[in-house]
Amino acid sequence: MSHSPALNFRCRHWDGQARRYCGAPRARRYLPGYRCPLHTPSALAGRPEAPESPSRMRT
Ligand SMILES: [Zn+2]
Repeated sequence: MSHSPALNFRCRHWDGQARRYCGAPRARRYLPGYRCPLHTPSALAGRPEAPESPSRMRT
């Protein structure tokens, strides 16, 4: 195990037009599954990426 396994995951976003998975490397784990930066739940919703740490304590 010399390389980081985090780089091995592929984006699992289904591209309905291309009828295939995105398959971009370096995907990260999100609630629906592995997603590249273009296909995170936030990106698909048109919102900026949510921080991983709950730092939004101010409202
Ligand atoms: Zn993707």
